[in-house]
Amino acid sequence: MTANPLDTSQQKAETKTMTTYDLYIDGQNVPPQTGAYFDTVEPFSGQTWAQIARANDDDADAAIRSAHAAFESPEWHDITATRRGAILRKLADLIVENADHLGEIEQRDNGKLIAEVSGQVRGVAEWFYYYAGLADKDGGRVIPINKPGVFNYIKHEPLGVVVAITPWNSPLALTAWKLAPALAAGNTVVVKPSEFTSASLIELARLATKAGLPDGVFNVVTGFGAEVGDALVRHPLTRKVAFTGGEAGGRAVNIAAAESFKSVTLELGGKSPNIILADADIEQAVKGAVSGIFGASGQTCMAGSRLLVHDSCHDDVVACLVEVLKTARIGDPSDHSTQIGPIATRQQWEKILGYVNIAKDDGAKLEYGGYAPEGPQYGCGQFVIPAIFTNVTNDMRIAQEEVFGPILSVIRFSDDDEALRIANDTRFGLAAAVWTNDLERAMHFVDRLQAGTVWVNNYRSTSFTTTFGGYKDSGLGREGGPDAMRDFQQQKSVWITAKPNRTNPFVLG
Ligand code: NAD
Repeated sequence: MTANPLDTSQQKAETKTMTTYDLYIDGQNVPPQTGAYFDTVEPFSGQTWAQIARANDDDADAAIRSAHAAFESPEWHDITATRRGAILRKLADLIVENADHLGEIEQRDNGKLIAEVSGQVRGVAEWFYYYAGLADKDGGRVIPINKPGVFNYIKHEPLGVVVAITPWNSPLALTAWKLAPALAAGNTVVVKPSEFTSASLIELARLATKAGLPDGVFNVVTGFGAEVGDALVRHPLTRKVAFTGGEAGGRAVNIAAAESFKSVTLELGGKSPNIILADADIEQAVKGAVSGIFGASGQTCMAGSRLLVHDSCHDDVVACLVEVLKTARIGDPSDHSTQIGPIATRQQWEKILGYVNIAKDDGAKLEYGGYAPEGPQYGCGQFVIPAIFTNVTNDMRIAQEEVFGPILSVIRFSDDDEALRIANDTRFGLAAAVWTNDLERAMHFVDRLQAGTVWVNNYRSTSFTTTFGGYKDSGLGREGGPDAMRDFQQQKSVWITAKPNRTNPFVLG
């Protein structure tokens, strides 16, 4: 296992300066009303690198009112969709110009590899370019109504104030999935980023103002879920909540939104099956398995945490996986050559190590890794060596519960029916993959896998051009693709009578 020397990262940590981030409301940096701030910490070094404003419900109220006023102002409400698109395009340009800076912030905040984050931030710009293009191509519909002399059309209108609540694993990207279509559709937005990764969203909001977005159209309120997230969801002027996160938060948001008839989109967790059939290209399938579960140290909703392998290739696949992991470069995520970085938070690190013990106690066999390495190359030590468990049965907790870390459960099967039964035997349904060279079998799996995304001979592919979202407990609604603006709109049916000719006003006509 190769590691990066500590001396460079220590020097970097010492020269970094502390930054303070206020809330971003009405186009301004605004201190929180209580004056309280909390630390944001680098997962690699364990050092606090910024102070983040801790908002309360008064701050939530100020942000929602600002967004509501902006929604009703002619400056936003009455501009053409073409102009909205132009502003979003400008924002995308600014994201590209500032991609290195934004990427560095995200990498400091959640410890993801700079090699992955810098590409991901550039990908964020693509979301804004795409919905900028769609903004003025959303034409509504003329309806051939079943009455003479009337013209009816359905027009799509924005909902009003949208609250977007996002997690720590891909802060800018997961916010863009909501923000770009919501703004393109003409809404105004209040974002509540994760308390662990707030800084990049404040920076994005500043860029949005620079791009020409009117004040109040995009606000950022930082703080804790139960304190300020809940207040944003419950606010009477909020019309829609788009949430990405875990089950507990998603459930709380769904209940709070239902009480006041707000629509929600929920992007939740997964326990996704990655299935290797006997005829698969094993080398490629192993690469897919590695990127599926060990990319981002397993801290992705779509992690392929259950690897279902046919009996005939099971031992070969496990041996290949172990060989790949032995060569992984683990260490400082700000080094472009690092392949596996730290775990984003201390709580998450403890949770992952706890699941290693749970799996062992339940009878799974640890083939590789599963411990916290020690040494200067591991910064403050918040690492988990990627773990491979075999002898896993699908009823074990390690196969049923989302760990959100670099732990792979390998489960054997002997025929396609058994593979499908195991794959679908989960509360979740976010994603699934099948590896095979037989197209007919691939299509059989595609039709039967209960998941919002199915990959054939690839894993973790996503794009703004198509949809993403979960079946079953993995969520409600979809993000991305050509129809995403629809989730941020309401329909109005318009009736126009050229020559009114009502004979009896007491009878419906
Ligand atoms: P989390 O649910 O703890 O937090 C997500 C966000 O919700 C945070 O901003 C948090 O402050 C807020 N929040 C929490 N409770 C709230 C409440 N009662 N009211 C309002 N807001 C509240 O999730 P996390 O730990 O930050 O992220 C990891 C989870 O996110 C995993 O379960 C992962 O699978 C999921 N996730 C899903 C997707 C997807 O697209 N399906 C993508 C990434 C992550």
